[in-house]
Amino acid sequence: MNNKIIYFDNASSTKIDKAVFKKMFNFLENNFGNGGSLDHKVGVNISNIIEKKRFSISKILKCEPEEVIFTSSATEANNLAIKGMAFYDSLKKTFLTLKTEHKSVINVYKRIEEFGHKVIYLDVDNKGICSYKEIKKNIIENKVNMISIMMVNNEIGVIQNIKKIGKLCKKMKIVFHVDCTQAFGKIPINIRKNNINLLSISAHKIYGPQGIGLLYKNKKINLYSEIQGGDQEMGLRSGTLPSHQIVGLCEAMKLAHRDLIINNKKISKISNFIKEKIFKIKNVILNGSENKRIPHNLNFSFEAVEGESLMMKMKNFALSSGSACNSLNLEPSYVLNCIKTPKHLIHNSIRITIGKYNNIKEAKLLTNNIKKSINYLRKISPLWDMKKRKINIEKFFNEI
Ligand code: PMP
Repeated sequence: MNNKIIYFDNASSTKIDKAVFKKMFNFLENNFGNGGSLDHKVGVNISNIIEKKRFSISKILKCEPEEVIFTSSATEANNLAIKGMAFYDSLKKTFLTLKTEHKSVINVYKRIEEFGHKVIYLDVDNKGICSYKEIKKNIIENKVNMISIMMVNNEIGVIQNIKKIGKLCKKMKIVFHVDCTQAFGKIPINIRKNNINLLSISAHKIYGPQGIGLLYKNKKINLYSEIQGGDQEMGLRSGTLPSHQIVGLCEAMKLAHRDLIINNKKISKISNFIKEKIFKIKNVILNGSENKRIPHNLNFSFEAVEGESLMMKMKNFALSSGSACNSLNLEPSYVLNCIKTPKHLIHNSIRITIGKYNNIKEAKLLTNNIKKSINYLRKISPLWDMKKRKINIEKFFNEI
C-alpha cells in the first residue's frame, strides 16, 4: 500500500536503508542473549558486539566510546540531557533555550520549571534564526548553567550558528546541549570544535530503525540518572540494551556519515527543482531563512489555501501540514507563530521534506499536483475571491 504513496515526509521518519535492515536481520538471525550476562559466552558475545558498535559510533562522532549513551530516541536523549543536568544536585539552575525548539526540549523545560529551575525562552527573528547578541546579553544578565539550541529546526529546516554559540559557552563555562536530530547526516558535525557537551541523535531520521537514539555526553559532565535499575549505560540509563537496534543505529550512522555529500547533492537538486516550480505559483512564501537552511526541508504557505485542505486533495502524497507532533491538534504551529508568519498564512503551510530515496520524477508529480490542487482550491475559496477583488486579506485577518 505504501508503495503507491509518494513520500515527502522524511523529517518525520525515513524508510529504513536495505543495508541497515540486512545488518539487523543477519544479527537477529545469528545472535541472541543479554549483553549484561557476562557469565557465559552468549552474553559476552552480545556485549562485545555492542561495545564494538559503540566504538564505531565514537569514531564517527570523534569522541570517546564512554561518551556515547544509547537511548530509545532523541526525545529520551533530550530528556536525559536536560533533567539529568537539572537534578544532578539540589541546586536550582538557570537554563536558556529557544521558543522554536522541538517539543522534546520545550516541554521538558516547562516540567523542570515546576521544580524551581529558571528557564529563559528566547525569541528568534522572522527567518527563524536566534540572535547571538540576545544570547550574550542574557548570559551576562543571568548566571546561565546550560543552553539548549537545536542545530536544524524540524519544521522549517533553518540552521543555527552552533559554532559561534559553542565558543561563547566555552568562554562562559556554560554546558552546551545541541539537538542534532535533524542535522546528523545532513551537516558535518564537529563536537570538539563546536564545544558541544551534550548532543542528541535519532536513528529513524537517518534511514535506521525507530526506537533507538543516543546522547553524546562529554565525560566531564555529570548527569542525574534518568532510569534506575541494573546500571547499564554508565549508570545513566538502566535497562537491557537493545542490541539489534544498536546494530541498526551504528550502520545507519556509518552510511549517513559516508554518503553525506552525495546525498546532499542529490537532495539539493530535487529541492531546487521543487522551489523553482512552487515559486511559479502566485502568492506563496517559503517559511524560514532562504539561505541558512538545509535543502531537505521546504515549508511553504499558500495564500487562501489551508494546509489541511491541500493535503486532503493530495492523498497520494505523504506531506506534513506542520510538524507531525503538532498535526494531532489544530493549533497553529508555534514555530510559524514565532517567526511571525502573517496570521492569514499560518494555517496555510505544508512541509515537504526530501530524502535520499526521492527523485526528480516524484518531485515533478508533486509540484504538478500542488499546482493543480491550489488552482482548484483557490477557485472555490471566498478568500481568493476577496483577493481578486483587491480586498486586503491580511488586514481582514488582523481585524477578526
Ligand atoms: N528533536 C527534533 C529536532 C526532532 O525533529 C525530533 C523528531 N521529530 C525529535 C527531537 C524526537 O526524536 P525521536 O522521534 O527520536 O523521539
